[in-house]
Amino acid sequence: MYVKTNNYPQKTNIMYKNFKTHLEKELQDIKDAGLYKNERIIVTPQSSDIEVEANGKRGEVLNFCANNYLGLADNSRLIEAAKRAMDARGYGMSSVRFICGTQDMHKELERAISDYFKTEDTILYAACFDANGGLFEPLFTEEDAIISDALNHASIIDGVRLCKAKRFRYKNADMADLERCLQEAQTCRYRIIATDGVFSMDGNVAPMDKICDLAEKYDALVMVDESHSAGVVGKTGHGVAEQYDCYGRIDIFTGTLGKSFGGAMGGFTTGPKEIIDMLRQRSRPYLFSNSVAPSIVGASIEMFKMLGESDDIHTRLMENVEYFRTRMLEAGFDIKPTQSAICAVMLYDAKLSQDFAAEMQKEGIYVTGFYYPVVPKDQARIRVQLSAAHTREQLDKAIAAFIAVGKRLNVIK
Ligand SMILES: *Cc1c(COP(=O)(O)O)cnc(C)c1O
Repeated sequence: MYVKTNNYPQKTNIMYKNFKTHLEKELQDIKDAGLYKNERIIVTPQSSDIEVEANGKRGEVLNFCANNYLGLADNSRLIEAAKRAMDARGYGMSSVRFICGTQDMHKELERAISDYFKTEDTILYAACFDANGGLFEPLFTEEDAIISDALNHASIIDGVRLCKAKRFRYKNADMADLERCLQEAQTCRYRIIATDGVFSMDGNVAPMDKICDLAEKYDALVMVDESHSAGVVGKTGHGVAEQYDCYGRIDIFTGTLGKSFGGAMGGFTTGPKEIIDMLRQRSRPYLFSNSVAPSIVGASIEMFKMLGESDDIHTRLMENVEYFRTRMLEAGFDIKPTQSAICAVMLYDAKLSQDFAAEMQKEGIYVTGFYYPVVPKDQARIRVQLSAAHTREQLDKAIAAFIAVGKRLNVIK
């Protein structure tokens, strides 16, 4: 274990003293608002079953708040592939892609991703945050329009901010409002609609068929971020294009290797070859940030190979979602409809959502309560994220805990 020495200088410059006071006050305001984020320390691999450490004490909890939908974060086949890749191609790249940071494996992974999404070409990034951050600015100018769902991920919002195109925003998955934006944007040169595939707070899937209909009617491109949907949504988990049979109608997909696809890190943009080519010329997070490490690239290639061999993992995930939802509805809980692996257990009251999560923790179940401003006022909830790695026994334990806590806190009878 690395133990830090206290060898920093004890003197503090005058300017920092004022800034420090300012930060302390801001931090206190965050705490007073109940929005302060603490990291919880896990001392095992990421899994459906983890050990956490608090105040020097260790305890086991069942994990229902990771994005580990396919349960691959501790998959032994991927770990072996990562080790093999490290032996064959080293630890790090020490370069951006276009100088001396592209190995044969990077190209192989880009082909695997293109195959998975049925696209022409793919460009890797260090994260999907970078893929979205570097997507719009190289492609669009002040003559163009970006039309964005109000609940899109922060990285899409930041990517749009970095671009000079005109911005339009429509209410979450509201097709009438999207149509209004498209009409307003008709005078622009090019238009692109940008949406998450699955919205992470409700677990709802973007209505891609209707979005594509409107895109065709109003001559717009379509971009979807598959971070929470790839590996989950669609008959065999290939994402929203499969779910809505929209192949050839969605122009650009972005996604992460940090959720369903193994959970390590890395992101990508995949689509028509000219778009990917232009991103390789001008996308700043690609041009000015390091290549994805060989261990992650090798394991990701193995992961796509594994998903290509069988749909079993995805089938198990969908069975788990169905089982959990059915039992929870039977128990009297109010659950948002979902086609994803996200189950929003609605409690509506902010304090109740925090108390509920704390009580669940005591029962050995790790779930997160969300309330305003993360979700709309009076829409507080517990978000449950299901995984193919959850066993029936683990699901039963979680459901029993929900029922016990629900009765104790008068949420259900
Ligand atoms: C998680 C997430 C990202 C960020 O992905 P990273 O690879 O972790 O940077 C981007 N977009 C959406 C919709 C996400 O859910």
